[in-house]
Amino acid sequence: MKQDAELRQALLAAIVKVIEEHADELTSLDQAIGDGDHGINMKRGFEAVAADAATLTVKPWPDFLKGVGMTLVMKVGGASGPLFGTLFMTLGKELPPEPTAVDLVKAFRAAIAAVQSRGKAEAGHKTMLDVLIPVAEQLEGGNLELDALSAKAHAASEATKPLKAIRGRASFLGDRSIGHMDPGARSSALMIGAVANVLKEVA
Ligand code: ADP
Ligand code: MG
Repeated sequence: MKQDAELRQALLAAIVKVIEEHADELTSLDQAIGDGDHGINMKRGFEAVAADAATLTVKPWPDFLKGVGMTLVMKVGGASGPLFGTLFMTLGKELPPEPTAVDLVKAFRAAIAAVQSRGKAEAGHKTMLDVLIPVAEQLEGGNLELDALSAKAHAASEATKPLKAIRGRASFLGDRSIGHMDPGARSSALMIGAVANVLKEVA
Protein backbone atom coordinates (compact mmCIF):
# COMPACT_ATOMS: atom_id res chain seq x y z
CA MET A 1 0.00 0.00 0.00
CA LYS A 2 2.82 2.36 0.85
CA GLN A 3 4.34 1.52 -2.53
CA ASP A 4 1.09 2.51 -4.21
CA ALA A 5 0.98 5.83 -2.36
CA GLU A 6 4.49 6.55 -3.63
CA LEU A 7 3.41 5.74 -7.16
CA ARG A 8 0.37 8.02 -6.86
CA GLN A 9 2.65 10.75 -5.52
CA ALA A 10 5.09 10.31 -8.41
CA LEU A 11 2.33 10.27 -11.04
CA LEU A 12 0.71 13.39 -9.65
CA ALA A 13 4.03 15.23 -9.35
CA ALA A 14 4.93 14.36 -12.95
CA ILE A 15 1.58 15.60 -14.29
CA VAL A 16 1.76 18.82 -12.27
CA LYS A 17 5.32 19.43 -13.49
CA VAL A 18 4.58 18.87 -17.16
CA ILE A 19 1.51 21.12 -17.03
CA GLU A 20 3.46 23.87 -15.26
CA GLU A 21 6.35 23.60 -17.72
CA HIS A 22 4.02 23.81 -20.71
CA ALA A 23 1.43 26.28 -19.36
CA ASP A 24 2.64 29.09 -21.64
CA GLU A 25 2.61 26.83 -24.66
CA LEU A 26 -0.95 25.64 -23.86
CA THR A 27 -2.03 29.23 -23.50
CA SER A 28 -0.51 30.17 -26.89
CA LEU A 29 -2.30 27.26 -28.54
CA ASP A 30 -5.56 28.45 -26.98
CA GLN A 31 -4.82 32.03 -28.07
CA ALA A 32 -4.76 30.84 -31.68
CA ILE A 33 -8.16 29.08 -31.69
CA GLY A 34 -9.80 29.85 -28.33
CA ASP A 35 -9.67 32.44 -25.58
CA GLY A 36 -6.10 31.91 -24.39
CA ASP A 37 -6.81 30.46 -20.97
CA HIS A 38 -6.10 26.74 -21.32
CA GLY A 39 -2.61 26.90 -19.82
CA ILE A 40 -3.77 29.08 -16.94
CA ASN A 41 -6.81 26.86 -16.34
CA MET A 42 -4.80 23.64 -16.25
CA LYS A 43 -2.04 25.13 -14.12
CA ARG A 44 -4.53 26.45 -11.57
CA GLY A 45 -6.31 23.09 -11.45
CA PHE A 46 -3.24 20.94 -11.04
CA GLU A 47 -1.67 23.29 -8.53
CA ALA A 48 -4.83 22.87 -6.44
CA VAL A 49 -4.48 19.10 -6.79
CA ALA A 50 -0.79 19.35 -5.80
CA ALA A 51 -1.74 21.34 -2.71
CA ASP A 52 -3.90 18.37 -1.61
CA ALA A 53 -1.37 15.74 -2.68
CA ALA A 54 -0.51 14.57 0.83
CA THR A 55 -4.17 13.83 1.61
CA LEU A 56 -5.06 12.49 -1.82
CA THR A 57 -2.19 10.12 -2.45
CA VAL A 58 -2.69 8.08 0.74
CA LYS A 59 -6.21 7.18 -0.45
CA PRO A 60 -6.70 4.00 -2.49
CA TRP A 61 -6.74 4.35 -6.30
CA PRO A 62 -10.54 4.85 -6.67
CA ASP A 63 -10.77 7.60 -4.04
CA PHE A 64 -7.51 9.17 -5.15
CA LEU A 65 -8.73 9.50 -8.74
CA LYS A 66 -12.18 10.72 -7.70
CA GLY A 67 -10.53 13.33 -5.48
CA VAL A 68 -8.28 14.53 -8.30
CA GLY A 69 -11.27 14.72 -10.63
CA MET A 70 -13.40 16.70 -8.18
CA THR A 71 -10.64 19.23 -7.64
CA LEU A 72 -10.19 19.61 -11.40
CA VAL A 73 -13.93 20.23 -11.87
CA MET A 74 -13.83 22.91 -9.18
CA LYS A 75 -10.56 24.59 -10.10
CA VAL A 76 -9.76 24.26 -13.82
CA GLY A 77 -12.87 25.97 -15.10
CA GLY A 78 -13.59 26.51 -18.80
CA ALA A 79 -14.88 23.64 -20.89
CA SER A 80 -11.89 21.47 -20.10
CA GLY A 81 -12.31 21.46 -16.28
CA PRO A 82 -15.56 19.47 -16.14
CA LEU A 83 -14.29 17.22 -18.95
CA PHE A 84 -10.89 16.34 -17.47
CA GLY A 85 -12.65 16.16 -14.09
CA THR A 86 -15.12 13.64 -15.52
CA LEU A 87 -12.22 11.64 -17.00
CA PHE A 88 -10.46 11.29 -13.64
CA MET A 89 -13.66 10.79 -11.61
CA THR A 90 -14.84 8.03 -13.93
CA LEU A 91 -11.46 6.30 -13.76
CA GLY A 92 -11.90 6.36 -9.99
CA LYS A 93 -15.43 4.99 -10.21
CA GLU A 94 -14.51 2.17 -12.57
CA LEU A 95 -11.22 0.94 -11.11
CA PRO A 96 -11.03 -1.62 -8.31
CA PRO A 97 -8.70 -0.77 -5.40
CA GLU A 98 -5.99 -3.03 -6.82
CA PRO A 99 -6.29 -2.59 -10.55
CA THR A 100 -4.73 -4.83 -13.17
CA ALA A 101 -3.69 -3.67 -16.65
CA VAL A 102 -6.95 -5.08 -18.03
CA ASP A 103 -8.95 -3.08 -15.46
CA LEU A 104 -7.08 0.04 -16.50
CA VAL A 105 -7.80 -0.36 -20.19
CA LYS A 106 -11.52 -0.91 -19.47
CA ALA A 107 -11.72 2.01 -17.05
CA PHE A 108 -9.97 4.31 -19.52
CA ARG A 109 -12.55 3.49 -22.19
CA ALA A 110 -15.41 4.07 -19.71
CA ALA A 111 -13.86 7.41 -18.73
CA ILE A 112 -13.66 8.47 -22.37
CA ALA A 113 -17.30 7.48 -22.87
CA ALA A 114 -18.23 9.68 -19.89
CA VAL A 115 -16.30 12.62 -21.38
CA GLN A 116 -18.09 12.06 -24.69
CA SER A 117 -21.47 11.92 -23.04
CA ARG A 118 -20.78 15.13 -21.16
CA GLY A 119 -19.24 17.10 -24.05
CA LYS A 120 -21.20 15.55 -26.94
CA ALA A 121 -18.01 15.27 -29.00
CA GLU A 122 -16.75 12.47 -31.23
CA ALA A 123 -13.40 11.51 -32.68
CA GLY A 124 -12.35 14.03 -35.33
CA HIS A 125 -14.03 17.04 -33.68
CA LYS A 126 -10.61 18.50 -32.77
CA THR A 127 -10.70 18.08 -29.00
CA MET A 128 -8.88 16.21 -26.23
CA LEU A 129 -10.77 13.12 -27.46
CA ASP A 130 -8.58 13.04 -30.56
CA VAL A 131 -5.72 12.03 -28.29
CA LEU A 132 -7.64 10.01 -25.70
CA ILE A 133 -9.48 7.80 -28.22
CA PRO A 134 -6.43 6.72 -30.30
CA VAL A 135 -4.54 5.93 -27.08
CA ALA A 136 -7.49 3.83 -25.85
CA GLU A 137 -7.60 2.02 -29.19
CA GLN A 138 -3.91 1.21 -28.98
CA LEU A 139 -4.38 -0.13 -25.44
CA GLU A 140 -7.39 -2.19 -26.51
CA GLY A 141 -5.32 -3.57 -29.38
CA GLY A 142 -3.04 -5.01 -26.72
CA ASN A 143 -0.09 -2.65 -27.15
CA LEU A 144 0.69 -1.59 -23.59
CA GLU A 145 4.24 -0.55 -24.40
CA LEU A 146 4.76 2.77 -22.62
CA ASP A 147 6.98 4.52 -25.17
CA ALA A 148 4.57 3.51 -27.92
CA LEU A 149 1.64 4.96 -25.94
CA SER A 150 3.46 8.21 -25.42
CA ALA A 151 4.40 8.35 -29.11
CA LYS A 152 0.79 7.63 -30.09
CA ALA A 153 -0.49 10.43 -27.85
CA HIS A 154 1.97 12.95 -29.27
CA ALA A 155 1.34 11.93 -32.89
CA ALA A 156 -2.41 12.14 -32.26
CA SER A 157 -2.08 15.67 -30.85
CA GLU A 158 -0.11 16.71 -33.96
CA ALA A 159 -2.83 15.14 -36.07
CA THR A 160 -5.40 17.60 -34.68
CA LYS A 161 -3.70 20.41 -36.67
CA PRO A 162 -5.44 19.79 -40.01
CA LEU A 163 -8.82 19.16 -38.35
CA LYS A 164 -11.66 21.68 -38.36
CA ALA A 165 -13.09 22.15 -34.87
CA ILE A 166 -16.67 20.95 -34.46
CA ARG A 167 -16.90 21.23 -30.65
CA GLY A 168 -15.64 23.72 -28.10
CA ARG A 169 -14.79 27.37 -28.49
CA ALA A 170 -12.55 26.70 -31.50
CA SER A 171 -15.63 25.62 -33.47
CA PHE A 172 -16.71 29.29 -33.57
CA LEU A 173 -13.78 29.85 -35.95
CA GLY A 174 -14.97 27.28 -38.48
CA ASP A 175 -12.33 26.80 -41.19
CA ARG A 176 -9.97 29.20 -39.39
CA SER A 177 -9.43 26.57 -36.72
CA ILE A 178 -7.62 24.47 -39.36
CA GLY A 179 -3.82 24.47 -39.10
CA HIS A 180 -3.56 24.78 -35.31
CA MET A 181 -3.07 22.09 -32.70
CA ASP A 182 -5.96 21.69 -30.27
CA PRO A 183 -4.86 22.85 -26.80
CA GLY A 184 -6.77 20.13 -24.93
CA ALA A 185 -5.27 17.49 -27.23
CA ARG A 186 -1.82 18.84 -26.41
CA SER A 187 -2.44 18.83 -22.64
CA SER A 188 -3.80 15.28 -22.89
CA ALA A 189 -0.67 14.13 -24.74
CA LEU A 190 1.56 15.84 -22.18
CA MET A 191 -0.24 14.11 -19.30
CA ILE A 192 -0.16 10.70 -20.98
CA GLY A 193 3.56 11.16 -21.72
CA ALA A 194 4.23 12.09 -18.08
CA VAL A 195 2.30 9.06 -16.80
CA ALA A 196 4.13 6.74 -19.22
CA ASN A 197 7.51 8.06 -18.06
CA VAL A 198 6.72 7.40 -14.41
CA LEU A 199 5.32 3.93 -15.12
CA LYS A 200 8.44 3.07 -17.11
CA GLU A 201 10.51 3.61 -13.97
CA VAL A 202 8.42 1.20 -11.90
CA ALA A 203 7.83 -1.41 -14.62
P1 ADP B 1 -12.56 26.99 -22.79
O1 ADP B 1 -12.66 26.49 -24.20
O2 ADP B 1 -13.87 27.03 -22.10
O3 ADP B 1 -11.79 28.27 -22.71
P2 ADP B 1 -10.16 25.53 -22.10
O4 ADP B 1 -9.46 26.55 -22.90
O5 ADP B 1 -9.60 25.25 -20.75
O6 ADP B 1 -11.70 25.86 -21.98
O7 ADP B 1 -10.16 24.13 -22.86
C1 ADP B 1 -10.28 24.03 -24.25
C2 ADP B 1 -10.16 22.58 -24.65
O8 ADP B 1 -11.25 21.82 -24.15
C3 ADP B 1 -10.18 22.36 -26.14
O9 ADP B 1 -8.90 22.51 -26.71
C4 ADP B 1 -10.72 20.95 -26.29
O10 ADP B 1 -9.68 19.99 -26.32
C5 ADP B 1 -11.52 20.75 -25.03
N1 ADP B 1 -12.95 20.74 -25.32
C6 ADP B 1 -13.76 21.79 -25.48
N2 ADP B 1 -15.03 21.37 -25.71
C7 ADP B 1 -15.00 20.01 -25.70
C8 ADP B 1 -15.99 18.98 -25.86
N3 ADP B 1 -17.27 19.27 -26.08
N4 ADP B 1 -15.58 17.69 -25.77
C9 ADP B 1 -14.28 17.39 -25.54
N5 ADP B 1 -13.31 18.32 -25.36
C10 ADP B 1 -13.67 19.60 -25.45
MG1 MG C 1 -9.87 28.46 -23.43
